[in-house]
Amino acid sequence: MEFKKCPHCERELPKTAFDIHKKEKCGVFWICKECRKIYDKGKPWKKFKTNWKKKPARYLSLKYDGIGRRIKVKDSYKNRKLLFTRQEFIDFGMNDRNYLRLHEQWLKADCIVRLSPSVDRIDNNGDYALDNIQFLTLSENTKKGFIDRRIWTQANPPYI
Ligand SMILES: [Zn+2]
Repeated sequence: MEFKKCPHCERELPKTAFDIHKKEKCGVFWICKECRKIYDKGKPWKKFKTNWKKKPARYLSLKYDGIGRRIKVKDSYKNRKLLFTRQEFIDFGMNDRNYLRLHEQWLKADCIVRLSPSVDRIDNNGDYALDNIQFLTLSENTKKGFIDRRIWTQANPPYI
């Protein structure tokens, strides 16, 4: 019998404990049937997501998904290229003392959003490349975006 580990409840389960999902490489849904019930209810999912993020490598993996989504969706990100793989990004983060410090600090602060580690492009006009990213807390990153926008607005004053 084939087994698969459910990343939600972390149990090693026979594949029959997972719903069939043909689009997935392994042919089944990524979390087990039981966990999927919780997932589908919506609210407990949030709690699960928070627990998931508490492991620094998994948090990075979620961030990687976020970058992928951002590049696809947002106009201002259209020309940005993603130049590293998920594994390269995780290795990079797990070897970055600053990231590990931020992540720990965030856990200690009960995962308040303001302190959640976020990925910043050092040069805002550059791509998502390992030599152009650093980790900041979300509030630092937002502030940086704000300052960049302000500088941009000063240089390109709107017509009144
Ligand atoms: Zn499960």
